[in-house]
Amino acid sequence: MRIAVVGGGASGLTAAIFAKKTDPSAFVTVFEGNRRVGKKLLSTGNGRCNLTNADISPEHYITHSPEALKTALEGRGFDFVRDMFAGLGVPVTLEEGRAYPRSMRAAAVVDALRFECARLGVETAAETKIGGVEYSAGAFTVGGAGFDRLCLACGGKAAPAQGSDGAGFDMAQSLGHKVYTPYPALVQLRTNGGEKDLKGVRVWAGARAVSKGELLREEVGEVQFTDYGLSGIPIMQLSNRFEGDMEIFLDLFPEEEFGAAVEVLLAMAEHTGDLAMPDFMGGYFSKPLTRRVCRQCGLDPERPVEQYTVRDIKRFVNAAKALRFQVTGTNSWPAAQTTRGGVDLNEVDPISMRSKILGGLFFAGEILDVCGDCGGYNLHWAWISGSRAGEALCLK
Ligand SMILES: Cc1cc2nc3c(=O)[nH]c(=O)nc-3n(C[C@H](O)[C@H](O)[C@H](O)COP(=O)(O)OP(=O)(O)OC[C@H]3O[C@@H](n4cnc5c(N)ncnc54)[C@H](O)[C@@H]3O)c2cc1C
Repeated sequence: MRIAVVGGGASGLTAAIFAKKTDPSAFVTVFEGNRRVGKKLLSTGNGRCNLTNADISPEHYITHSPEALKTALEGRGFDFVRDMFAGLGVPVTLEEGRAYPRSMRAAAVVDALRFECARLGVETAAETKIGGVEYSAGAFTVGGAGFDRLCLACGGKAAPAQGSDGAGFDMAQSLGHKVYTPYPALVQLRTNGGEKDLKGVRVWAGARAVSKGELLREEVGEVQFTDYGLSGIPIMQLSNRFEGDMEIFLDLFPEEEFGAAVEVLLAMAEHTGDLAMPDFMGGYFSKPLTRRVCRQCGLDPERPVEQYTVRDIKRFVNAAKALRFQVTGTNSWPAAQTTRGGVDLNEVDPISMRSKILGGLFFAGEILDVCGDCGGYNLHWAWISGSRAGEALCLK
């Protein structure tokens, strides 16, 4: 059995390893456009590789095929990935639910996969960018050679400098598959005119994404303001829900209910009410942010707080609990960590990742229409879809 895997990233290397383990007599070739396999993996998790999460469930993913995703995830949760890496000599450790290699080195993950490929006899054709694949009479032509089976594991369009530029989508389409329009995901949001007055400010906040009055998703964490808009992990999470119309509401008092926040400010004003609002609120958030809140609720920020009425304080808290930003778009592919959209998962058997359209064709990883949250979910998908494809690639 001759097997071609296009893409030497997380999913492709996993598919190759599982294929060779399932049938050691199979000839498995990984085609990789970069000089070495696993380039993107090296930059994951800020070089630490957040490789899975203790809480794996379908709620952490977006796809047009939720039932198929649920089936694919069944039996392949955190334990599966932990055991897979333990078997490669890479113990996994947890940090607030996020799993990392114990060494906290992404390079250790890449090495373990590379060494296992070499150990099993997987052939790697590096610096071999595949322009297209052909299918005829039950066989695939890839890079000028013939193969019985093909696994497309070329990633999506995110971070193209690392090797994945969407070529896999063209190949999938040329072989008859439907591809949902790919959008940048886990990416910064651009807002109307940017946030130049707040550039560089960071704040711990609740963040709500709303579209046409409907709450899409809520997150809490550190939000960063930039000259183009909003950044930070909660914003990246919300970016996965952007479909052309979105407002973000920041709650700058995420730990206090409205009434409690009003009480706190009124009590503070008894002692420090001689200060103007930006100085008065200095213990909570930065001056530019206070000025922005005042602007939203029509308060003059330069007056001493003791001149405000209780109603004014309530207006301030109200605005600070729903500071509004109109989203105009996302940053583009070079800034994105992953892809939303991709090859229709309903056209793939979710147990084997085998194409339902063309015999002998398989898929794994980000090329499929499965987009995970920040927190190890995208690599988790790469490992488990790669393992499923690998186990099935050699089967008759
Ligand atoms: C900066 C950054 C940080 C991230 N951090 C995390 C994290 O900590 N945790 C997490 O879960 N996810 C993270 N992700 C997302 C995660 O890395 C990807 O979802 C995952 O790597 C996808 O794996 P893949 O194998 O499907 O695709 P890729 O990793 O993109 O691998 C595809 C491979 O195919 C090769 N290729 C593409 N086209 C061709 C072609 N035509 N011919 C030959 N080779 C080709 C590419 O060069 C690449 O090596 C991060 C992403 C980025 C960009």
